[in-house]
Amino acid sequence: MDPFEDTLRRLREAFGAGRTRPAEFRTEQLQALSRFLQDNRKLLQDALAQDLHKSAFESDISELIMCQNEVDLALRNLHTWMKDEPATNNLLTKLGSAFIRKEPYGLVLIIAPWNYPLNLTLMPLVGAIAAGNCVVLKPSEMSKGAEKVLAEVLPRYLDQSCFAVVLGGPEETGRLLEHKFDYILFTGSPRVGKIVMTAAAKHLTPVTLELGGKNPCYVDDNCDPQTVANRVTWFRYFNTGQTCVAPDYVLCTPETRERLLPALQSAITRFYGEDPRSSPDLGRIINQKHFQRLQALLRCGRVAIGGQSDESQRYIAPTVLVDVQEAEPVMQEEIFGPILPILTVGGLDEAIAFINRREKPLALYAFSNNNQVVKQLLERTSSGSFGGNEGFIYLTLSSLPLGGVGHSGMGKYHGKFSFETFSHHRACMLAPPGLEKLNEPRYPPYSERTQQLISWALSFPTCTLL
Ligand code: NAD
Repeated sequence: MDPFEDTLRRLREAFGAGRTRPAEFRTEQLQALSRFLQDNRKLLQDALAQDLHKSAFESDISELIMCQNEVDLALRNLHTWMKDEPATNNLLTKLGSAFIRKEPYGLVLIIAPWNYPLNLTLMPLVGAIAAGNCVVLKPSEMSKGAEKVLAEVLPRYLDQSCFAVVLGGPEETGRLLEHKFDYILFTGSPRVGKIVMTAAAKHLTPVTLELGGKNPCYVDDNCDPQTVANRVTWFRYFNTGQTCVAPDYVLCTPETRERLLPALQSAITRFYGEDPRSSPDLGRIINQKHFQRLQALLRCGRVAIGGQSDESQRYIAPTVLVDVQEAEPVMQEEIFGPILPILTVGGLDEAIAFINRREKPLALYAFSNNNQVVKQLLERTSSGSFGGNEGFIYLTLSSLPLGGVGHSGMGKYHGKFSFETFSHHRACMLAPPGLEKLNEPRYPPYSERTQQLISWALSFPTCTLL
């Protein structure tokens, strides 16, 4: 028996009946999502604390407030976003009107990971609802607390004929993916991204893949080490390093490394105390499997700061590794935990060469007092996003897209980009039924004169004559 069949049929029927298309319906559902966030704030914070030992501060700024802002933005802009977009005519089409209609794809599947289990399910959901789709949400089975709230509480707020939360791990998700969807947004690892894309290809379903990777962080000799250390520390150990856009490793010269180490130690102690294990602001590793994977990475290079761990609590101290070889596992896989290797290079050119011979990262960071250095990193590399003297705070801007490039993913969302992602851009041309005489020159038999006339007419894309 197929556990998903009934749900998917119900959603398809609702979409087919046009239920999700009216602006009023989209507005109601977004308002309901807003109420879900407000009514259940404590419940959601508790779920995140249960899953990741996430502090209320980090839960608020990286999950709840971001989701709320996303809903508010969509509610404010929905009517503008939904409007047909006028397109430029040429002389040949001047009598008609050309425009782009943003129409919903239909049935959308959103598959989410566990590290920001609310943000990464609800942010895309906002865009999919705003664009007028029916949605199947598949939260991660690893973040049990969030999964439970999403499965048990969220459906009470949304129209269940159009939106469903389904549960399951790799096996169930594999079965779910055998079904045809009209759009899939997947957030997770590149390995599973390939599985999702292969399944989508069978139905020619378009995908957005929000993947991970290793994000380089270049620190220039010309910098204030303490300022850099504060920023890198916060962004590396935020959510215990379990952030797709976290700086994954530092590249700097040996001299800068020596200046950076005491500054990093000082920032870690100031942020998390002498014993970070007792800090309420430092989270825990999601599960035993990831804890053991990270513990093995602690054996790479040499521990310069931290290195302590406690399996019973799935605790790993904020750690800095030095003398790491590029071939070691910590430089081969995405770290996704509170471990920061520092690799030394001869300078900017060597750092750029190092970055460019690896897969394109999801994010890239450059710290320098010299603007030219930051600009060079920006010019001569490629990544999903870029932070100059800054970490991933840009994620709070709905005016910027979130998305990878190459191995770190394809497509983008957040804010208006989400609405665009979940909308098919339908090219439309409405011509008058009469005035057929004006069309005569385009029909055979062709002549040199009509060829010239049509060529001329085609070359006036913005002409307002006629
Ligand atoms: P994951 O790829 O293991 O799992 C993601 C989702 O896919 C989960 O819902 C899971 O149930 C499902 N899944 C797992 N195996 C599957 C399979 N074989 N077939 C079908 N579905 C399967 O990722 P994760 O461990 O949950 O999250 C960590 C990864 O996600 C990291 O690589 C991280 O960088 C990435 N990530 C990316 C972003 C982004 O915005 N680009 C954000 C957060 C996390």
